[in-house]
Amino acid sequence: MLVIFSSLGLKTAVAQEKSRIEPIENKAIYSLTDTLKSGRLLADKVEILNLIRKEKEARDESIEEEIKAKEIEENLEAPAEEIYGTCSWGQSINPIYNPSLIPSSYDIDLTGFVAPIKFYRVNSKYGWRRRRMHHGVDLKLYTGEEVRAAFDGKVRIKRYNRRGYGYYYVIRHPNGLETIYGHLSKQFVKAGEVVKAGQVIGLGGSTGRSSGPHLHFEARFCGIPLNPQLLFDFAEGTPNMDTYTFHKYAKKSHYAKGSGKSNNVGHYTIYKVRRGDSLDKIARRHHTTVARLCQVNHMTKRSLIKPGDKLLIK
Ligand SMILES: [Zn+2]
Repeated sequence: MLVIFSSLGLKTAVAQEKSRIEPIENKAIYSLTDTLKSGRLLADKVEILNLIRKEKEARDESIEEEIKAKEIEENLEAPAEEIYGTCSWGQSINPIYNPSLIPSSYDIDLTGFVAPIKFYRVNSKYGWRRRRMHHGVDLKLYTGEEVRAAFDGKVRIKRYNRRGYGYYYVIRHPNGLETIYGHLSKQFVKAGEVVKAGQVIGLGGSTGRSSGPHLHFEARFCGIPLNPQLLFDFAEGTPNMDTYTFHKYAKKSHYAKGSGKSNNVGHYTIYKVRRGDSLDKIARRHHTTVARLCQVNHMTKRSLIKPGDKLLIK
């Protein structure tokens, strides 16, 4: 037996063993050698089964990946179609004419965010400004600086508006947001083009109603402007949270107002968790309650917080 095992390949040995062993399996009593042999066979069988299982898993995984890639592609061809439908690719900033079509609440996935410009300085915040509502943030840049798409998406509008945005884009994203990039000096992508997060779509400038080179950046959901600084940390180039829940019936002030300190975004303040912090401590320090903290941040009392996490404090 030993000779057979070492001189022939394992496979041949297994095949030979198989034909010899099969009737043994039905016997009630095994001799010692048979027990040892069937033990060996079992180990081989397990090994082969494991191999087959692994191969199947790898195959399933690659199929899953393929499906996912296809889904992503389709999502980019028709981003957030479940909200905007198929006929909302017009040239108006506001894509939804019937407010009843706006979902009462919607979770916006912010994880794919890339900062639209490299070096960040807010020139002017979102909110009321000389009796006019400023629907975005103004990010200082120099003329000719690269401007990037904030998420994967599809260009809905590429236009020029002499008295407003200058050369601008509106890009629709699969997460439901639309982002606007204004006052550009150059535009590199066409309307209808699919863009990737971080792709250079144009160069910064001061076209339109602008007093100096800057990027006017907006983030809208169903045409409703959200405070970009509530959603994104432009200095770090990261979203302030993974998911932002849009509420249709939130007070207008929820979206508006944006004066105050640099980390004050309208009604909210963004707090960076420090070592030794607990929800209780943070709540006390900011004259609020744990329940309120949890509500604002969509978490529970038992949610874990770690240093560096960002919490919205209202
Ligand atoms: Zn602006």
